[in-house]
Amino acid sequence: MNRSLIGHIAQKATALRRELHKYPEVANSEAKTARMIAQVLEETGPDTLLTGIGGHGLAVIYNGREDGPVVMFRAELDALPIADEIGTGYKSVNEGAGHKCGHDGHMAVVAGLGMYFKEHRPEKGKAVLLFQPAEETGEGSKRVIADARFQELKPDYAFAFHNIPGYEKHTVIIRDGVFAAASRGFIAKLKGKTSHAAHPDQGINPALTMARLITKLASLPAEVVTDGEYALVTLIHARLGERAFGTSAGYAEVMATFRSYSDRVMDILVYEAERYVDTLAEPNGLKTAFEWTEEFLATENDRTAAGLVRDCAGVNGLRIIEKNDPFPWSEDFGRFSDLTKGVLFGIGAGNDHSELHSPGYDFPDDITETALNLFAAIASRLVYNK
Ligand SMILES: [Zn+2]
Ligand SMILES: [Zn+2]
Repeated sequence: MNRSLIGHIAQKATALRRELHKYPEVANSEAKTARMIAQVLEETGPDTLLTGIGGHGLAVIYNGREDGPVVMFRAELDALPIADEIGTGYKSVNEGAGHKCGHDGHMAVVAGLGMYFKEHRPEKGKAVLLFQPAEETGEGSKRVIADARFQELKPDYAFAFHNIPGYEKHTVIIRDGVFAAASRGFIAKLKGKTSHAAHPDQGINPALTMARLITKLASLPAEVVTDGEYALVTLIHARLGERAFGTSAGYAEVMATFRSYSDRVMDILVYEAERYVDTLAEPNGLKTAFEWTEEFLATENDRTAAGLVRDCAGVNGLRIIEKNDPFPWSEDFGRFSDLTKGVLFGIGAGNDHSELHSPGYDFPDDITETALNLFAAIASRLVYNK
């Protein structure tokens, strides 16, 4: 590994990161972002550059001459529908959109790895840089995986990092097994019948059922989950009838986000929630319908892949923090780690750094070189002959 080369690449990656930050695009509209990345990486002379994977996704492939593992490094293309409130020259020019999760930084690091491959071609196997779309909505990875061109790649390993505020800069936060929670958005619809407000008896008003449902959802985790398991239901939104005082409501909707540390517990929560709504609604003459959205699997780290990250972090002199419990947030990487030996780890963004998804957040550029060195070290273990 050539540290001065990486130092030089980190500077170029930082310039790219700031450019990406200025033009953020939310999930499913990442066309320009993908084009910017493609332009930068075309110059690194990859063997294949696939565009339009699972939406605006991009896969950039560098082949080794000998047989070896297919090693994927993932970044995310999307920004958030959150206004950018940072006071720098590269502040977002797209109103109401901002890189508030640091995906600009993750992209810059993975693009930087491509610049490294330009100078040090993989000797064996393949290195794949994947820029997935729509991470924030949990849709992108599913569509990427469904793409026939991606299926041909068959990655043996998948690596990704997320910057994590609240942890000292340059520390590596990792754990074997579940790293980030599964989550799902739940929409329960209660269909009754409107009537004149003077004759509620002539209609079917879902108000009381809705109220009971809200109470029940809040206590659902305690009822279905056994000791030591984690489940959380957070109420998000509710709606009943219309703002019309002459009308008795005939329709209600309740939305909640479900979280758990395993896909199995999520399945139980889903089953029990639907069953409960039906049990509550039927005797009252209400019809029910359900929608599930923003579906994330639990991100489960493979031991071998996680071990490799620890080794490389150690070699690079980085402090490793072993996390006792998984993070309660979710990551679309879960579908990749479900597919292959994958690991998602954190790199500390600083103890006092603004939180992810907050208007004042900005990716800390000084961890770019740390991340690049770590990814290059991982690559050197898998696609280079030592
Ligand atoms: Zn995010
Ligand atoms: Zn993120």
